[in-house]
Amino acid sequence: MYDWIVIGGGIHGCTVASFLLKKGKVRIERLCIIDPHDEPMYQWKKNTERIGMEYLRSPSVHHIDVDPFSLQKYAHQYNQKGTGLYGKYKRPSLDLFNEHCEFILKEVNIHQCWHKGWVISVEKEHGFWKVRNKNGDELRAQNIVLSISINNQLNIPDWAKQLKSDLPIEVFHIFDESPVRFSSLQPPIAVIGGGITAAHVTIKLSSMYPGNVVLIKRNPFRIEDFDSDPGWLGPKNLTSYHKNKSYEERRRLIQEARNKGSLTKELFYKLKRLESEKKITIIDGEVISAFAKNNEITLKMIDKEIDVHTILLATGFIPSPPGLNWLGKLMKELDLPCAQCGYPIISKALEWCPHLYVSGPLAELEVGPIARNISGARHAAERIVSSL
Ligand SMILES: Cc1cc2nc3c(=O)[nH]c(=O)nc-3n(C[C@H](O)[C@H](O)[C@H](O)COP(=O)(O)OP(=O)(O)OC[C@H]3O[C@@H](n4cnc5c(N)ncnc54)[C@H](O)[C@@H]3O)c2cc1C
Repeated sequence: MYDWIVIGGGIHGCTVASFLLKKGKVRIERLCIIDPHDEPMYQWKKNTERIGMEYLRSPSVHHIDVDPFSLQKYAHQYNQKGTGLYGKYKRPSLDLFNEHCEFILKEVNIHQCWHKGWVISVEKEHGFWKVRNKNGDELRAQNIVLSISINNQLNIPDWAKQLKSDLPIEVFHIFDESPVRFSSLQPPIAVIGGGITAAHVTIKLSSMYPGNVVLIKRNPFRIEDFDSDPGWLGPKNLTSYHKNKSYEERRRLIQEARNKGSLTKELFYKLKRLESEKKITIIDGEVISAFAKNNEITLKMIDKEIDVHTILLATGFIPSPPGLNWLGKLMKELDLPCAQCGYPIISKALEWCPHLYVSGPLAELEVGPIARNISGARHAAERIVSSL
């Protein structure tokens, strides 16, 4: 029996665990993190490394440790070259951010509470939670935190679905589970998407296949420093948001606040430079269909078409609530409240019902537009820990 089981060992699960441990709310031997991977933060590392992201979009005060200046202090103490922080928001390099995470996770001894597994059910039994894993393991706890994300829910445009299953080597989503061998792609390559992921991938591919990379986007570039206004990090926007009792209205505000499909200024200028050097081509157009013939794929847009050999989808994630396939039963049994959008209605302490906490997308209607990112993880961890 554990005091706490955290389901999901990504940035969110690790942040919640680090706050619980460092704030003395649980001892390491009373905490368990369940995740299917060998190591913490697997998805984060895989996805960010794959797209060649050099710097995070978020500032240096967003990380997994309790002290907001922990990463900055770490950078000055350990990163001798001082090259790890960029620009006026001191955005950390991916290397520095990951190194700092490793440092914190080692400090709290996270490996001691790591339990490899895939949760298939949570039930209430004699006043405690019983968690069952796919391999048959059963674990019990007083408290549960659901720290699962939408990162497994890849958004594949309708026109690409059949093609992707027919040609898995030539057509893939950048965040597919299986590894992507960038060095053995067959050019020309089309990158589909106009946001920050598409920008990173296009820049990475341009150095490997100069003149043979086409970025296809359906909207004009949208330049924003962050993925939502920094006002959403604190009372400036959150006070009025919390006064709003309509969850439909909250959902509308979240959608409106997210700078979906946007990219930072420096990536925009990099793309423009590469375009002027003819290393990449940028096409404005919405792909409506695609077909393969003679080892070539034709992408049809409304007023044009192009032929490529490889398609790389940088089309994001499906925003529906994660985990419903196994959480559905629990939701029914305990009559857990959800808004019209299907997302949990939770308390200020992020409790869906007593002793069942959420963070990440599942906490969106309470935490607001930042819920899914690193600041959202800190926000969730703070709220949970300060309610205990
Ligand atoms: C390329 C990229 C760049 C980003 N850059 C930034 C940035 O600069 N700044 C920022 O703030 N945010 C950024 N984000 C957004 C956000 O911070 C990340 O998506 C973050 O990693 C989400 O963490 P998570 O823990 O919620 O999800 P994940 O990392 O996906 O972790 C969830 C874990 O839960 C596990 N899990 C799911 N279901 C179960 C189950 N049933 N049983 C057991 N385990 C389960 C999963 O396998 C996974 O390991 C970025 C996102 C991406 C994709």
